[in-house]
Amino acid sequence: MRIDLHTHSTASDGTDSPAELVANAAAAGLDVVAITDHDGFGGWDEAAAALPAGLTLVRGIEISAAADEVGRSVDLHLLGYLPDPAYPPLVAELAEVRDSRVHRARRIVAAMVADGHPLSWESVRARAQGAVGRPHIASELVDLGLVPTVSDAFTDAWIGPHGRYYLSERKVPVLRAISLLRDAGGVPVFAHPGASKRGTTVSDETVATMAAAGLVGLEVDHPDHDEATRTALRGLAADLGLVVTGSSDYHGSRKPTLLGTNTTADPAYEAVVAAATGVLPLSA
Ligand code: AMP
Ligand code: FE
Ligand code: FE
Ligand code: ZN
Repeated sequence: MRIDLHTHSTASDGTDSPAELVANAAAAGLDVVAITDHDGFGGWDEAAAALPAGLTLVRGIEISAAADEVGRSVDLHLLGYLPDPAYPPLVAELAEVRDSRVHRARRIVAAMVADGHPLSWESVRARAQGAVGRPHIASELVDLGLVPTVSDAFTDAWIGPHGRYYLSERKVPVLRAISLLRDAGGVPVFAHPGASKRGTTVSDETVATMAAAGLVGLEVDHPDHDEATRTALRGLAADLGLVVTGSSDYHGSRKPTLLGTNTTADPAYEAVVAAATGVLPLSA
């Protein structure tokens, strides 16, 4: 089977609506696709209602989290597959993260405006139907002609990890995010653990701590990982007994990556589904 376990819709920072996402997944020849928007379940119902025949939908999420490393905090993303979307502590935590994203994006835009850049908060806000993020600001910068492409906004001059206008939103402490997901019957998988161009990555010791806390898998095959990174992560997953997943992290037209660029092997997918007790994968 062709299985892509990490994609975004307009419920966060993708450009396909959830209905377009599942249609495009079927057209790309996928058998299984996971919808994993940042910090919310807002795309689930539309994706489920539009599910084409022959495609299986894995309902998921990508949680903005942070790990305590020696002397500092390191941001990371935690995928969660098939959690109960009504589990109150998870719902409450995600609402706080989305709320903090609004304040943070508004502060980023205000700092740009203070420097004389002609952005409008209303225009940026209107780009986001769910969790607002840096990609919405990046698209605004592109449309204003201030940068040529979305990825050119992720630099030191703008909103890259060390960028002039970078600000952090609230992050969920990663061990709490893992336990919230597990308590909701979901399956936590560490997203792009070696994506160093996004910022500092966490240490192997922290991954071991996450594994002991209930992490199920590592997203080894990801467009941001080179071959050496994938080899190292595969070794770490084997050492810690973690499932190895692969995915595109598709964002529609906001990133060049196509659906199915990286995929997950059938046994790994089956292990993820077997570990879930929240909701089931859906087939039309
Ligand atoms: P945020 O969650 O608001 O901090 O924004 C992070 C999102 O920005 C990620 O989920 C990606 O979709 C996107 N992103 C991060 N780095 C880059 C990059 N170098 N080029 C394009 N998009 C990026
Ligand atoms: Fe994103
Ligand atoms: Fe991510
Ligand atoms: Zn993602």
